[in-house]
Amino acid sequence: MNATIVTIGDELLIGQVVDTNSCFIGRKFGDCGIRIIERCSIGDDATTIINTLDRVLKQSEIVILTGGLGPTKDDLTKHTLARYFGCELVRDQATYEFVEQMLARRGIEFNALNQAQALVPKCCKVLPNRNGTAPGMWFDTADGKVIVSLPGVPFEMEELITGEVIPRLAQRFDLHSNVHKTIITFGMAESVLAATIEEWESALPKELHLAYLPNAKGIRLRLSCYNVEREYGEKLIDKAFGELESIIPDYIMGYEDASVAEEVAKLLQSKGATLAIAESCTGGRIANQITSMAGASEYFLCGVVSYSNQAKQDILGVKAETINAYGAVSSQVAQQMAEGVRRIAGSDYAIATTGIAGPGGGSELKPVGTVWIAVASPSGTITRRMNYGRIRIQNIERASTTALNLLRLVLLDKLDTVTSDAIL
Ligand code: ATP
Repeated sequence: MNATIVTIGDELLIGQVVDTNSCFIGRKFGDCGIRIIERCSIGDDATTIINTLDRVLKQSEIVILTGGLGPTKDDLTKHTLARYFGCELVRDQATYEFVEQMLARRGIEFNALNQAQALVPKCCKVLPNRNGTAPGMWFDTADGKVIVSLPGVPFEMEELITGEVIPRLAQRFDLHSNVHKTIITFGMAESVLAATIEEWESALPKELHLAYLPNAKGIRLRLSCYNVEREYGEKLIDKAFGELESIIPDYIMGYEDASVAEEVAKLLQSKGATLAIAESCTGGRIANQITSMAGASEYFLCGVVSYSNQAKQDILGVKAETINAYGAVSSQVAQQMAEGVRRIAGSDYAIATTGIAGPGGGSELKPVGTVWIAVASPSGTITRRMNYGRIRIQNIERASTTALNLLRLVLLDKLDTVTSDAIL
C-alpha cells in the first residue's frame, strides 16, 4: 500500500515552520504497513495543489494533505478540493454546532469566518476534529483511491490520524506491517564497516532492505521489511542481526537508541567500578552524556573541565614542564590529566581529553581536529591520538564518543583485539 504525504503552507517553504507532520504520519503509517513513497511540501496555491494531486495520485493509493484548512483567505485547500472534485461547499451541521459551542466556551464571537469552518465539499466524508475548528475530510476517487485533507496544527492532525484515518484505512485496505529495526555500531568508519559486512549484506533475504545511517555517535544500520505479517518480518530481521552480531561483536552497542555511554554505564555497574573524567576540548560533554543517564551516581564520582593550562596544573596536577615540553595537546598531558583526576576522585577508571576543537588554534603538527584521549585504569594508562575534521561541534561530539568507546574497550579488555581504526 503506497501513500504520499503533501504538507501545504507557505510557512513550510520559507523555513519558518519545520514540517513535523510528515514525520508523525510516516511513523504511524509505517507501523501499520503503509509505505510512504513520497513526502513533499508545497505553498498555499490552488494550481500547485491541483497539479500535485494529479501527479501523486498516479503513484499512490492514499494521499494525505495537511494544512490550509483555516478560515482565512490564505487557506485554500478546502476550496481547491471542492473545485478538484467538482462539487459545491455545503454546511456540515455537526461541525457547525461543535464550533459554535467551542467558541462560546472560550468567549469568542461565532462570526462569518468561524461559521465558514463548517462548510465542506459535498462529496467528502467529514472527520470530526475534537481539538479545533477545521474538520478533516475524506474523499474517495472514482478509481478507488483515497485523499484525506487534515488541519495543519500538529496536535489536531495527530489525533485525526490515529483516531479517524488509520482505523478507516484499516477497514478499507488489507493492511500489513512495515517492520524496522536498527542496530547501533561504533568504532568503524562507514567504508570499513561496509567492506567488513559485505558478504552478510549480499546474503540478506530479498525482503530485507539495509540502510546505513551515520552520525557522530556511530553508524546505525537499519533493516526494513515492508508489507508483511509483523511476526514474520521481526523473525527475518532478528535472524539477520544475530548473524551480524557474530561478525562484528566488538562494534555493536545495542539496538534502537542504544549508545556507547549506555554500554559504559552497564559495564561499570556490572563491575561495581567507579569513573572520573577530566575534559579540556570536550568541555564537559562526556560528563554530560554520563549524567544524562539515570543512576549515574552509582559509578560516576567527578568531572573536571580543565580548560586552561593553569587549571590542568592546579586541579589535576599536570606538570608545567610537561606542558612546556610537549604542549597541552599531547599524549603526556592527556595521561597526566587522566591519572590526576583518577587520583583526586579516588576512582577505578578515568578518562581525559585534550585537543583543538577549532576552527582556530591549529598548527602544521597539530591541525584543528587533533585530540588526545587517555584512559587510566587499575592496570595502567593508555592514550590515543585522533585526527578529526574542521567542524568544532562535530569534533567535540566525536571525541566524546571515542573517549567513551576507548573506556568501553578497556573495560572489556578488548583494546588489543580490535583493529587500529576501531576506536574512531
Ligand atoms: P486551522 O484551521 O486550525 O488554522 P490549518 O489547516 O489552517 O488549521 P495551517 O494554517 O496550515 O493549519 O497551519 C496552522 C499551524 O500549524 C501553523 O502555524 C504551523 O505552526 C502548524 N503547521 C502547519 N503545517 C505544519 C507541518 N507540516 N508541520 C508542523 N507544523 C505545521
